[in-house]
Amino acid sequence: MKLFKHIINLFYPRVCAGCGNLLLEGEETVCTTCRFLLPKTGYELNPGNPLAQMFFGQMPFNAVMAEFFFSKSGKVQQLIHGLKYHGSRENGLFLGREIGKSLVQAPDYQGIDVIIPIPLHPKKEKIRGYNQSAVIAEGISQTTDIHVDEKIMFRAIFTATQTKMTREDRWNNVENIFILKSPERLKNKHVLLVDDVITTGATLMSAGKALMQVEGIKISVATVACASN
Ligand SMILES: [Zn+2]
Repeated sequence: MKLFKHIINLFYPRVCAGCGNLLLEGEETVCTTCRFLLPKTGYELNPGNPLAQMFFGQMPFNAVMAEFFFSKSGKVQQLIHGLKYHGSRENGLFLGREIGKSLVQAPDYQGIDVIIPIPLHPKKEKIRGYNQSAVIAEGISQTTDIHVDEKIMFRAIFTATQTKMTREDRWNNVENIFILKSPERLKNKHVLLVDDVITTGATLMSAGKALMQVEGIKISVATVACASN
């Protein structure tokens, strides 16, 4: 079996998704050097972090974190870009596993019942072949053993008239983007909402609004990356 693996590596060398160098045995997706250079935020251990503050008074999330800052070296961007546009599911699993490793040590992220990835627009998912947030969620599940439910939340399909709305109109309409299927299953549950990147927080806000309708729900948020400030 090991010989077989060596032969496969001869023809399809495994390279680092961050720098393109050959991966050594025991290295997965990203080489040790790149992994070391990815800038962790440590936000999972800091309840008052800038991302959490973004939602203060607007959405009662239990905790909000991003695993990495977008780095000057661009490696985090590169990993996400590969996941979104080059079919590198492996990048998403790696990023998810990194998030998972941080969450298992974070007091605010204990007792999570289910992981819910932000749904992608069905058209986009068809083109991409997968929802990148669901792949990240799967990676988190690999290190935490928490189940992923990709079906419980879905995106409303916009009508032609809605597509013609201005950007601002659509933003105002954002709260109706997500719909829950069988919300009673989430009653009194601690859910982990997962997205790839956190920028304005609008997407998480609207997903939060849909989830907050469930009685006794507790929502924590985990994302791969955010801007450093
Ligand atoms: Zn590398």
